[in-house]
Amino acid sequence: MTPESPVHSERYRRTLAELARRRATDAPTHGGRILSYVYDSGLAELDELAGAAAALVQPVNGLDPTVFGSVASMERDLIAFARTAFHGPDAVGSVTSGGTESCVLAVKAARDHAGLAPGTGSLVLPATAHAAFDKAARLLGVRAVRVPVDPATTRVSAAAMAAAIEDDTFLLVASAPNYPTGALDPIGEIAEVATARALPLHVDACLGGFALAWWPQPLPAWDFRVPGVTSISADFHKYGYAPKGASVILHADRDRHRAGFFATTDWPGYPIVNPTLLGSRSAAGLASAWAITDYLGPDGFAALVAPVAEAAAALRVAVEGIDGLAVAGAPDGPVFAVVADPASSAPIDPHRWSAAVAAAGFTLQEQPSYRQPDGTVLPASTHLTVTPVTASVLDDLIGAMTVGAERARGQAPAAAPDALTALAQAFVDGALTVDDALALDSASTAAALVAAGIDPHTDPSDAANALDLPAIIAAIEALPREVTAKMLAEFLASYANP
Ligand SMILES: *Cc1c(COP(=O)(O)O)cnc(C)c1O
Repeated sequence: MTPESPVHSERYRRTLAELARRRATDAPTHGGRILSYVYDSGLAELDELAGAAAALVQPVNGLDPTVFGSVASMERDLIAFARTAFHGPDAVGSVTSGGTESCVLAVKAARDHAGLAPGTGSLVLPATAHAAFDKAARLLGVRAVRVPVDPATTRVSAAAMAAAIEDDTFLLVASAPNYPTGALDPIGEIAEVATARALPLHVDACLGGFALAWWPQPLPAWDFRVPGVTSISADFHKYGYAPKGASVILHADRDRHRAGFFATTDWPGYPIVNPTLLGSRSAAGLASAWAITDYLGPDGFAALVAPVAEAAAALRVAVEGIDGLAVAGAPDGPVFAVVADPASSAPIDPHRWSAAVAAAGFTLQEQPSYRQPDGTVLPASTHLTVTPVTASVLDDLIGAMTVGAERARGQAPAAAPDALTALAQAFVDGALTVDDALALDSASTAAALVAAGIDPHTDPSDAANALDLPAIIAAIEALPREVTAKMLAEFLASYANP
């Protein structure tokens, strides 16, 4: 950098200082204080390495690996890394921008490979599978059939999956593990159904694939070792410790992979060959993930996962030791959810508990209750994602969880704001239909939010305006789900738009 470089100009420094000021208002991404969204390895050099790798490829366009050879070679390495980890020596695939894109591509590839008539086709998936598959179904014009899980184990049964298969079903989906409760679906049994019915089976390992691959305790087989598993998605930006923007979709079969592509020469411009959903694409996520896997290697991954497994086990023991709380189902991996213990004479509301734990310094993630298609209910829960850095704050976290339980004990679940309760009643009474609500325009929807005391236009950096999350969750539970989805979309649009 020469002294005259613009980097030394007042204006340049002011711009960066302004960004730093804004970043300072964010939730802490390091130090283990937030147990969702971020997957902190605890290794400071990984951040620097990823940043340097992203900077090196900043001007590159990942659209055309024949022009930018580094893109093709890094992608080859990452696919080789992932297929070795998941025991698919001949698997092929594509690096994507994230788990949602990998899941959408899994569905698109299966749909196009099946050669279905437009407007037909269904995928069958457990109720606990990620909502990215609902998004895929919506985008691709197919149906997503959610199969109820056993509320006690939060696992789906292969028989229930088999019973949900329809004439035009083209894909089965299962999770290893699922996001809401961290349970592994019985992949082996579902794969037998898939094989018997000649259907492909996608295993969504977006969340934990790169943790389970080196899990220190034995697990039921869930990857390409299971005959019948035809594709796997896994996020480098979760337990691959890469910055956001990197995931992989792998297929056991080359033709199924190719069916995910979009290619055309039928326009006046350059030939289009898109293995993923994007056109021009950044190579930053790819290069960051490549650098981290190259630097850590499989041994580095194994070393990072060992403390995750230990911390997750210790936290589950701690929860089970608190009267009033329980771990949901039987999670095997790095994430789990906490519910009110139905067997306790004094169950603790998991959202009052997470609010109290937050006051003691740790942010956990609240999840609303969910009524399954068969009417059974997965109760409200609080989700914890355990990462390598969690081990370094384990005692403090267990302390906060214990103190939080004492504070939350005896507190009734939060009620929805009065205006939302009235709104919910209007749906029950039939004074309002879901169609009425969905027909509301943006201004009326925003007005309903503000009337409910949820004003997206307040300054989020002012602590006095902190969102009343338990109340919002209570609203989600009280109102028809399509209506809350619309209201939350309005909320976020207003929140982020000028
Ligand atoms: C995170 C996640 C996804 C979606 O991934 P994004 O990277 O957030 O788009 C899909 N499936 C599971 C199980 C996940 O945990």
